[in-house]
Amino acid sequence: MSIVTLEQVEAQIAHRFALLRFRPEIELLFRRDYVAERNRLIGIWVAIGLLIYNLVYFGDRAMIPDVLTEVTALRFLVFTPAVIASAFAVRHWPSSRLYDALSVFVAVLGVSLPMAAAVGSQSSYLLIYQNYNAAAFLFFVIALRPLFRAILTGLALMCLSHLSAAYLTDAFDAVTFGGIVTFYLMLSIFLAAAAYFLERTDRRNFLNQLRASLLYRRLEVNSERDELTGLLNRRSLARIGREIWSVEAAPQVVSVILLDIDHFKRFNDLYGHLDGDACIRTVSQHICATVGKGHSVFRFGGEEMLILLPGQGSPQAVAMAEKIRRAIEELAIPHGRSDHDIVTASLGVASAMPAQMAIEKLLQRADEALYEAKHRGRNMVVIAEEPQIAA
Ligand code: GH3
Ligand code: MG
Ligand code: MG
Repeated sequence: MSIVTLEQVEAQIAHRFALLRFRPEIELLFRRDYVAERNRLIGIWVAIGLLIYNLVYFGDRAMIPDVLTEVTALRFLVFTPAVIASAFAVRHWPSSRLYDALSVFVAVLGVSLPMAAAVGSQSSYLLIYQNYNAAAFLFFVIALRPLFRAILTGLALMCLSHLSAAYLTDAFDAVTFGGIVTFYLMLSIFLAAAAYFLERTDRRNFLNQLRASLLYRRLEVNSERDELTGLLNRRSLARIGREIWSVEAAPQVVSVILLDIDHFKRFNDLYGHLDGDACIRTVSQHICATVGKGHSVFRFGGEEMLILLPGQGSPQAVAMAEKIRRAIEELAIPHGRSDHDIVTASLGVASAMPAQMAIEKLLQRADEALYEAKHRGRNMVVIAEEPQIAA
């Protein structure tokens, strides 16, 4: 999903975010989530917003009939296309900056256009008429919900536009105009404060959700990993096995290599359990490096590893097993009580079509081949069924 770690998210939660900004990697995820969520709702808000905005046509007709042509043209020929184009732009270029900029643009336009027309009106209803803009302020903050900084900018520009237009109408005496100014300033302050706390809550919820999903992923990964070696464990084998043996994947051949370190009990007896652990770790790492990415290496038992090779038949599996055997030999880990004075391993290989053989049976055949390798003198690869020494 991302390069953000659980530790970074927990540090961000502890650090708080009074300035409504996360560290850059987390902020990027938050913004992506933010714009996706706004985009999901944009269609419905555009529809509701335009419906209500254009229904005010009837208010225009009743209250400012002398400038009806101008205000109607502004509503239907300027505002409506501008809103549709803005929504279209955000849908096609989803970015939080664009969303915020266009929200401010639409809100300021929505407030300015009818007020610009009202400046030329001689109507005695202008006091009531200008009240309508309060709805635009609410719509901007509650429905469009841009980020706090955009809300501050938007509210400031809306106030500026509304109040200067109200002033220019010349329809209000000083006391009435003072009342209008007070109302819009109070409304803006309340809305800005509410927006600040709402965004903080949104951000806290986002961090908590991110933390929960990262925690879950870590638990999931840990529950399928062996602690000593970091290899996949048997729980993971059961899951991956189920996937490979599922009906869709069944036509593909699958090979398994079962590996067991030779005379490991003697190694422990001679060097101690801790050196034994280190040896298992080193061998595991070299198996992974030899097998490469894309294949699964499991810790099957104490000093037994299993390599699953979906899509690879026995010739490739035997070649891979031989490569692993040699890689372990080349490590030349001293082993005073082995046949070769170094740590070696024996490997059993088996292949099958999942449709024809259950995974348990395939593992059993690999185990039999491994037993055969031990029986024949260790440090070798044996292929199941037609036991033949490949190395
Ligand atoms: P063989 O060549 O027949 O495989 O002989 P072996 O001694 O390796 O075989 P065996 O299975 O009898 O013994 C495996 C030993 O591996 C027994 C156990 O002490 C050791 N072992 C298993 N798990 C661990 C582990 O996690 N750490 C360490 N240090 N030793 C382990
Ligand atoms: Mg063993
Ligand atoms: Mg062993």
